[in-house]
Amino acid sequence: MKLIIANWKIYLGAKESVALARRLSKIKSKNQLVVCPSFPVVSEVKKALGKNIKLGAQNVAQKPDGALTGEVSAGMLSSLGCQYVIVGHSERRHTLSETDAQIKEKLRVVVSSKMIPVLCVGETLSERKSGKTIEIVRKQLSVLRGLKFENLVIAYEPVWAIGTGLTPTLEQISEVHKTIKKVIGKLVSKTKVLYGGSVDKKNAQKILSLAEVDGALIGRASTDYSSLKKIIQ
Ligand code: PEP
Repeated sequence: MKLIIANWKIYLGAKESVALARRLSKIKSKNQLVVCPSFPVVSEVKKALGKNIKLGAQNVAQKPDGALTGEVSAGMLSSLGCQYVIVGHSERRHTLSETDAQIKEKLRVVVSSKMIPVLCVGETLSERKSGKTIEIVRKQLSVLRGLKFENLVIAYEPVWAIGTGLTPTLEQISEVHKTIKKVIGKLVSKTKVLYGGSVDKKNAQKILSLAEVDGALIGRASTDYSSLKKIIQ
């Protein structure tokens, strides 16, 4: 069984999110689907998803509570039924300047609230071209040091593949996943390593058939019912 995480970002409005969740709840799938809607519709989507699909969040506040205007705490997400939280997505690292120090705090609060972090790592195109992919991924994974996890998900998401229609070769995906598993194996026993970046109904089966790939984190294609249905079945 593979783990498929749907990251709806802010693609869908409230009504569309609930309607899609309702349709997805009727699919019989051999894989585990986790849906991460935008914050305002988390509760409504949770109700519409039914029992078999799990709920996740796209982000979390770095502090457990207090004065952080506009943020949403781990405790709130957990009380609304979220079991997974995406942390360190490249859009947050690169567009919103999120730092490794903030990411570490977020991992801490997610674990304290008994949810499973989905830590995103991945290189930019210039880092890949200059042969630095493994070095960058190892550095991004170093935020895990000193933290304790029972369950952890790592999503390898090359920045240049997100939302671009470009994907690494299967060999490139395997190489990075093997490295991640080697690094993480020493720190956490239950880890899943997902691939993310322009996964769609055409390339999903090939990527998911790789032994080192435990699932996928999917943006754009996860907002389309027939694409997601094909990927998870
Ligand atoms: C993502 O945002 O995590 C992602 C993988 O997006 P997309 O599938 O649209 O490339």
